[in-house]
Parts: sequence; structure tokens; C-alpha cells
Amino acid sequence: MTVQPIRLFGDPVLRTKADPVVEFDKELRALIRDLTETLLNEGGAGLAAPQIGVGLRVFAFDVDDTVGYLVNPELHFPDEEEQDGPEGCLSIPGVYVDTKRRQNVVARGFNEHGEPVRLVGSGLMARCCQHETDHLDGILFLDRLDTQSRKAAMKEIREAPWYNAAAPPAVKISPHAARPSR
Ligand SMILES: [Zn+2]
Repeated sequence: MTVQPIRLFGDPVLRTKADPVVEFDKELRALIRDLTETLLNEGGAGLAAPQIGVGLRVFAFDVDDTVGYLVNPELHFPDEEEQDGPEGCLSIPGVYVDTKRRQNVVARGFNEHGEPVRLVGSGLMARCCQHETDHLDGILFLDRLDTQSRKAAMKEIREAPWYNAAAPPAVKISPHAARPSR
């Protein structure tokens, strides 16, 4: 198990739609372990594979002392109830903004062996499932804000010490992609 570096806002991998998992193999199990270990190390509520640079539809969660993960998640909303409260993201450190989400969610997906699993959550668990599934579609919580809140959050991001707009980190696609292209 290895703690992986977290990709930060500005990294194109966070804006890329992740691919469904088709092989439930040992590489997937290693990814799930890395995600879980990195999440526990960082102390967030959830972490999606693109946040550690892997474009696959997997996320891990640590909510209300329940640690788990979901592969190929699909969300269903059993009712219309909403919640509003502060939301943050490990890829956007230090920025927390009230974000509207659905209050209740039923998440269907798979475990590491490809067996179907179902996760029923409300409150923070529901918020986490929505936030992490958004990551798999290249969506950040900033996109869920109204214009005014988003502008304020972007200002905070641009002033953050970790934000380097001039040199966003490159996406590593293959070993060859690391070479400078002319
Ligand atoms: Zn996030």
C-alpha cells in the first residue's frame, strides 16, 4: 500500500471523464488500497481515483467511521430532499463553500471482485457519494455553486499558496509523455 500524491486544481486529470472499470484484477485491488490509504492519510471524507491521477471510476470514502469504496458507482435519488452545508475537496485545499446537494442517495456499484453492492446514505455520506461521483465525470464542487460563490471561491484558489496557474502539473499518460515534445 502506498500513499499517493493528490492532484490539485489546475491538473487536467481532474477535468477528464474517467473510464469504467472492466477488469476486476489485482491492479484494481492495488488502486483501491492506494485510494483508501491516501484518503486515511489525508483525513478527508472521500477520494476519487482521478485525484491520484488514475482515470478509472472508483472512489473511496471515510464517513462516520465507515471506510469503504465503490467501483463504477451509479447514483439514484429516492426523494427530492436537499441539504446545504460546507463542502471542500482534497484537490482544492483550504477552500470550503456551502454547496447544495441531495440529502438521500442510493449508490449502486461493485466491489473489488466485480460483485454488485448497494450503498444507502444520507447527510454527509450522500454528499460524499455525489462529490466523488462528480469527480469521475470531471466535475468539481465549484461547478455546483452559483456564479457569485464560484467567483469568490476562484479568488480564494488563485490566492492560495498551492495554486500555480503558470505551471499546472502535467498528466502522465505514458512514460513517453514525460519527454518534452517539439
Ligand atoms: Zn473532491
